[in-house]
Amino acid sequence: VKFGHFSLAGIQMLSVQPDTKPKGCAGCNRKIKDRYLLKALDKYWHEDCLKCACCDCRLGEVGSTLYTKANLILCRRDYLR
Ligand SMILES: [Zn+2]
Ligand SMILES: [Zn+2]
Repeated sequence: VKFGHFSLAGIQMLSVQPDTKPKGCAGCNRKIKDRYLLKALDKYWHEDCLKCACCDCRLGEVGSTLYTKANLILCRRDYLR
């Protein structure tokens, strides 16, 4: 069985400190001014922007792992389908 290229990445939720400069979100390219942001794939994301490309679930809530395949970000369930 060949799975092709894929990878797993942990998702970290970080609280934004008052003196932290807002980072750009990798999903929507806007600055993140929320209290919390997600860090995954070495990028920063709004909680709402890190979503599964298939089912649109918010990956920060589903668990602490995201899966990438063919440049798509997927949740575990869709990845395993
Ligand atoms: Zn965003
Ligand atoms: Zn999904």
